Amino acid sequence: LANRAFHPEDSIIDVSGVKVGGDHLALIAGPCSVESHDQVLEIAKAAKASGANLLRGGAFKPRTSPYSFQGLGMEGLDILCAVREEVGLPIVTELMSPDYLDVFNEKVDLIQIGARNMQNFDLLKQLGQLDRPILLKRGLNATYEEWIMSAEYIMASGNENVILCERGIRTFETYTRNTLDLQCIPVLKKKTHLPVIIDPSHAGGKWWLVEPMAKASVAAGADGLMVEVHNDPESALCDGAQSLKPSNYDQLLKQIKQIASVV
Ligand code: PEP
Ligand code: MN
Repeated sequence: LANRAFHPEDSIIDVSGVKVGGDHLALIAGPCSVESHDQVLEIAKAAKASGANLLRGGAFKPRTSPYSFQGLGMEGLDILCAVREEVGLPIVTELMSPDYLDVFNEKVDLIQIGARNMQNFDLLKQLGQLDRPILLKRGLNATYEEWIMSAEYIMASGNENVILCERGIRTFETYTRNTLDLQCIPVLKKKTHLPVIIDPSHAGGKWWLVEPMAKASVAAGADGLMVEVHNDPESALCDGAQSLKPSNYDQLLKQIKQIASVV
């Protein structure tokens, strides 16, 4: 179902009125984790003013250590919903457990499946029953074929609204958090008709790598960017080192728009 051979045109996915794919860039911005209402509101207002069209924020967090901040859970989701009303940006947030399928289907505009759940096949099958589009992140060591097959699980179960998101893969290099695989953009666009977006924040793990990699991604044909933005990165509860300040995000989008207008 994802195969370009049977669907030559680019798929355009509608996220509560925001189109993604074709000539439409998804500009997703927001904190790694929802920490408080004021935090998300401040970041969302700034990001929207800069040109972001979707708001991200983790309520349920897949943390490597059980002793790290695990997210605010349902309270975090309620904060995102409140900020959506106040600022007018559709929300993107990660679903980790099938326990919350119904509430996410009701409340979340774009349901994110994180790298660690890319091959949670039971969860993928259940996403096929939902009406909401799915943002499917690449597994930490997934091949293109494995990633496409995970999209296929969702599509074959009845939900063809899938957006692919590269977030860096694990290599022998340890200086960067992961290694951004820019080649995935032309490869996946050749093999599938689905939109492909890039998350340079989790790829590099350092805020100053976000701008060059985001620019390269759009130049290479990415259908959007997911960027972590925090109003106070030094005191962020999660991923502060890779988060842009709102002023830097504003600078980034100015450059992205120039690149997008020529590619
Ligand atoms: C995230 O985007 O918040 C996240 C946890 O990313 P990943 O699943 O790519 O690690
Ligand atoms: Mn993060």
